[in-house]
Amino acid sequence: MFDSLSDKLEATFKKLAGQATINEINIGLAMRDIKRALLGADVNYKVAKKLIDDIREKSLGEQVIKSVSPAQMIVKIVYDELTELMGGEQKPLNLSPKKLPAVIMVAGLQGSGKTTFCAKLALRLKKSGKQPMLVAADVYRPAAIDQLKALGQQVDVPVFAIEEQDAMKAALQGLEAARSAAKDVVIVDTAGRLQIDQVMMAEAESLKHALKPDELLFVVDSMMGQEAVNTAKAFNDRLDFDGVVLTKLDGDSRGGAALSIRQVVEKPIKFISIGEKVDDLDLFYPDRMAQRILG
Ligand code: GDP
Repeated sequence: MFDSLSDKLEATFKKLAGQATINEINIGLAMRDIKRALLGADVNYKVAKKLIDDIREKSLGEQVIKSVSPAQMIVKIVYDELTELMGGEQKPLNLSPKKLPAVIMVAGLQGSGKTTFCAKLALRLKKSGKQPMLVAADVYRPAAIDQLKALGQQVDVPVFAIEEQDAMKAALQGLEAARSAAKDVVIVDTAGRLQIDQVMMAEAESLKHALKPDELLFVVDSMMGQEAVNTAKAFNDRLDFDGVVLTKLDGDSRGGAALSIRQVVEKPIKFISIGEKVDDLDLFYPDRMAQRILG
């Protein structure tokens, strides 16, 4: 299951032949291997350090069960701890059944995969029996509106857009259009910039205020490494979002961003995006990500 880190730890323990128990010396060596694995998976240094300290303490307190080796036991402790730190359970979307349509607002930097995610989510909701509508509130780039329209067509979900460059008007009229068309959920794609920008933040903030979304989801590219954490923090400080969508996990990134973001902003990761196609979207499962981080 966690072969690579397990193998490394087995090798470490073998060097200390005859030591069948967990003690200060072998735990020190094991922690060095684990720290390397975490940093190699792009886990933030401070987060990795705190995690190592916790694991060290937990491991020393454990009695080694006869049937497993100390290495296997430590891997299990690390795996459980990582799973727990990433939220333990899968956290579903919280859409109010009373308020119709339910509102999902999507924010994030330009290029993070925000617009693609909106269409993927619409498709997913449609498959689960909902009747979604997509709203283009990313009004400054005509290409972004065209992209949402094309994606909407692909997933067969209507897209609401206006000609004017007025995000608030687009969002509120979109909500109204969804209500008239008896849609039960709207997904609002908002404007992103290439980097954190006060104008973008202020606009997202007023949209949040006006739309009162059931879910405000923040989309972030997992390939951004440490920068993903800083971006998540900046968005959360300003918008107090409800959940995170981690994209481009089909690339090389080992998923350390999931752990770091969860630790820094204390918000659940709800979805992972694993490709460019409209059905490349999965729910986020902490235990699976723990496995990926451990390698
Ligand atoms: P936005 O500017 O945040 O709306 O980002 P887009 O949705 O336009 O996505 C930017 C680029 O990333 C596009 O080329 C997408 O096809 C691509 N993309 C989005 N999500 C993923 C993903 O999970 N994996 C990969 N490999 N590419 C993605």
